[in-house]
Amino acid sequence: MGSMEASTAPENGTAAAAAGASTACNGAGAAASNGGGVERRLRSSAASASWASHLPLEVGTRVMCRWRDQKLHPVKVIERRKSSTSSSPADYEYYVHYTEFNRRLDEWVKLEQLDLETVETDVDEKVEDKATSLKMTRHQKRKIDETHVEQGHEELDAASLREHEEFTKVKNIAKIELGRYEIDTWYFSPFPPEYNDSPKLFFCEFCLNFMKRKEQLQRHMKKCDLKHPPGDEIYRSGTLSMFEVDGKKNKVYGQNLCYLAKLFLDHKTLYYDVDLFLFYVLCECDDRGCHMVGYFSKEKHSEESYNLACILTLPPYQRKGYGKFLIAFSYELSKKEGKVGTPERPLSDLGLLSYRGYWTRVLLEILKKHKSNISIKV
Ligand SMILES: [Zn+2]
Repeated sequence: MGSMEASTAPENGTAAAAAGASTACNGAGAAASNGGGVERRLRSSAASASWASHLPLEVGTRVMCRWRDQKLHPVKVIERRKSSTSSSPADYEYYVHYTEFNRRLDEWVKLEQLDLETVETDVDEKVEDKATSLKMTRHQKRKIDETHVEQGHEELDAASLREHEEFTKVKNIAKIELGRYEIDTWYFSPFPPEYNDSPKLFFCEFCLNFMKRKEQLQRHMKKCDLKHPPGDEIYRSGTLSMFEVDGKKNKVYGQNLCYLAKLFLDHKTLYYDVDLFLFYVLCECDDRGCHMVGYFSKEKHSEESYNLACILTLPPYQRKGYGKFLIAFSYELSKKEGKVGTPERPLSDLGLLSYRGYWTRVLLEILKKHKSNISIKV
């Protein structure tokens, strides 16, 4: 990317993150009547007069499931667990992936949400193997000391993709509390094992330490003396502040931030060596302190001229223009360094939208200013 002018002012209503749950609903429900599965369903239907005989459903089963929009959507059973101590085969909950939606919407559902008449028991069907349809644009050679590179599916070969999905198939933490927000998480994050049985984790919004119980957090808040991220405030405009946190000087904070971010980034690879990174943490500030709205990380020394490694706007602050603000900030830093910078790729789905939106706006502004012929070097 070139070194075109980048405005650092946040802008309302255009943030990338909009692509989440709402757009994922498109085309929902159509699969029920599609040809391919019908024959299989008929076969399984003939094999068993009673759907109860399928219970508990096997992992891999495909079935229709009632979603939060009250409509039926096709899902694949990823995992199951007993929901009570009874031995009834009906007492199971299922962790399902909505095949039309992003993995961030995977969730545990109850049996009554599933339409058992649509069960496809042929688990060994020709899986529409995501891996084989992927564009293998380049094979990523990941250096062992490189930290937390965010990857998209197209970067993974079939085996790596399966390994990734197997290991991260079930969200381990369903919710977090951060400041005044309770936030539903999107993806698995490799918290230390002792946290994995917690339905909700409580984060100190300033030092990002996390705890299993609310009382622990309350005790912590009495003695935590931070009111903003531990680092230098390098930008302030109105109530917005940007803090630069050195991963080497603030190792625990850097790691906590990575654990937190992974909950919302599917292919962020989490390492524990945060020394090589700077974290730029954007905050909304008031008299209670500086509340994190998002961040991006950046390698201190990038051989490939990367000026951004991971970027995240926390869900409560999405769709407000913060994603583009963070991107603009990363280019401003590159300009200050006298360098041409570019983000590590591939970008996540929401990251890609943010960048597209950002560059669309920048290019349109340039075109508007220059009525005569111009050429843009990319
Ligand atoms: Zn704290």
